[in-house]
Amino acid sequence: MCVFCKIVNNEIPCFKIHETSNTLAFLDISQVTKGHTLVIPKKHYQDLLSLTPDIAKEIAEATLEVTNILKTKLGVTNFNLLNNSGSLAGQEVPHFHMHILPRYENDGISFSKPHKPADMAELKKLYENIAK
Ligand code: 5GP
Ligand code: ZN
Repeated sequence: MCVFCKIVNNEIPCFKIHETSNTLAFLDISQVTKGHTLVIPKKHYQDLLSLTPDIAKEIAEATLEVTNILKTKLGVTNFNLLNNSGSLAGQEVPHFHMHILPRYENDGISFSKPHKPADMAELKKLYENIAK
């Protein structure tokens, strides 16, 4: 049984901050920033591609509720939502989880994005492959 299933089953303790019949939200054991929270489905789904539309919707709704709790309790209004899906993406716990990362002034976290425009011909080819 995976570590998050054990948390759901109360075999491992957690600091629970939100719960619905199908989802659970608790503080991440390693707080990347203050209030770093994980939202999980109670049922074991391995990753993003394993989710059903119904549970995806419930996770999204729970995520929104947790951000509002963090806003009310901690006063945070800036967040990153992050899901690592698959080992290449850095997923370590094989039970879907959405990271909610409150952001603070000068918190030292950086998600650098390339700002160089893509080759338009390549981008069009990619678009045609994906969208048509
Ligand atoms: P991943 O790298 O899979 O996206 O993130 C896994 C997250 O789960 C990490 O941020 C890690 O700190 C957290 N985590 C792992 N084990 C436990 C645990 O037993 N309890 C809690 N609360 N968080 C955990
Ligand atoms: Zn699990």
